[in-house]
Amino acid sequence: MSSSEKIDLKDLIRSIPDYPKRGIIFRDITSLIAHAEGFRQSIRDLCAPYVDLQIDKVIGIEARGFIFGGAMADYLGVGFVPIRKQGKLPGAVVAQDYSLEYGTDRIEMHADAVAPGERVILVDDLIATGGTAIAAIELLQGVGGEVVSSAFVIDLPDLGGASLLRERNVNVHTLVDFEGH
Ligand code: AMP
Repeated sequence: MSSSEKIDLKDLIRSIPDYPKRGIIFRDITSLIAHAEGFRQSIRDLCAPYVDLQIDKVIGIEARGFIFGGAMADYLGVGFVPIRKQGKLPGAVVAQDYSLEYGTDRIEMHADAVAPGERVILVDDLIATGGTAIAAIELLQGVGGEVVSSAFVIDLPDLGGASLLRERNVNVHTLVDFEGH
């Protein structure tokens, strides 16, 4: 393939029905990141709106947000900050709880990872209900970070997460949509 030809990234995302439970279609990005040109294009496309903006850090949500966020930070020439599941970070943390279908979960970030006024981009592989991303935004805004935008490879628009972020005045940049759940 010539370097000017665009790949349809949707063709590289594998859909696995009834995983992790019946009724969910799991959108699997491992097939996308295993494809050299597809992975490279996804990083370029995710970064496109930000190349001329002043950005201080890219923030990735565990675990698939690390894959895209790490490569984006390199491409944009900025640092990378992980947001992790509870109990994984060794230093002092700030934490945010959020609701799941059953119960709650907690995400954490090192308390000194983002300084007040720093301009950051939040990254994950997929946005569904937006619960995870909103918790991450609250964490970042809580330490005084400015969430310039959020970026996701996949949007599930029927689940409404991207709309909820926009209602909070957070820009949302996505590459591929899938109907339904
Ligand atoms: P949500 O908090 O509902 O927006 O869910 C987003 C998080 O759950 C992301 O970290 C996704 O990786 C994961 N996720 C939710 N739904 C799916 C799905 N259908 N396929 C793959 N990952 C999903």
